[in-house]
Amino acid sequence: MPRDICADIVFGRKSSNPVMYRLTCEERHEWKHDSDLIVEILDEHPPRRLGGDKWADDQGVGDINRGQLYHAVMTYYPVPGLEPPDPVDVAVKWVRGKRAIVSLRREAEMYEGPLIPLQGQVVPIFGGLFTTTTRDGFDIGCLILEWCPGNDHTTFGKPTEDELRLRENAVRQLHAVGVHHGQLFERDEGLCLSDGRHFLRAADGTLRIVDFQRAFMHRCVDKDTDLDSTNETDDDSADLERICDELLRAIEHYHRALEGELRTTPWNTF
Ligand SMILES: [Zn+2]
Repeated sequence: MPRDICADIVFGRKSSNPVMYRLTCEERHEWKHDSDLIVEILDEHPPRRLGGDKWADDQGVGDINRGQLYHAVMTYYPVPGLEPPDPVDVAVKWVRGKRAIVSLRREAEMYEGPLIPLQGQVVPIFGGLFTTTTRDGFDIGCLILEWCPGNDHTTFGKPTEDELRLRENAVRQLHAVGVHHGQLFERDEGLCLSDGRHFLRAADGTLRIVDFQRAFMHRCVDKDTDLDSTNETDDDSADLERICDELLRAIEHYHRALEGELRTTPWNTF
């Protein structure tokens, strides 16, 4: 049995009063840490629970994870005789409450299960699920994931043809491993600004689909199904009939762009 790996999550590292939580790893992960982690939150004050404040009643306790997402740098405690790996930028998804942790665990199981072959290509690299109960009785959970610096989808406006091509390709790969995301497209018709919050860019500019708390397994398309020449022959129509709404929508958005109809596609800025 490998020993438990811990992650020390440090908030307010540059303040005079930094606060550290020690969490234990529940799920193994792509990075396969050999020693305990130090995760320094870069841009944040301590969570509101600290300093005598209370968390908002609805914060991180619902079925849907309403915790916070932080940008952090992950390093390791030194191991004698081993060269330490380079620090790496990570996203820390931080929640409070048993129900929120259950939801986070579901997401972790997706990353550790069907999404394994897509990590670092279509979905973020998964760095582990860590949990603890604090001395004053709060259950805390956090997911560590590859940091995607292209996080602010509101700055890009209506997606371009190229963006829609990348999204279509990513959604297709997701469905080929049997995963239905469940929150990718806000509306049946047209494009939505908010759709972009689940299509981020990794450091190298490639696309990542994120947030799998409502994802479920289904079967609509195989890896080898050729959908590239949609709506041209009867066989292709048969393929299209099999596929689910989520994938169909990704294909339709891209094809509309290909056919020069992107400009007239409705754009909902919410
Ligand atoms: Zn599907």
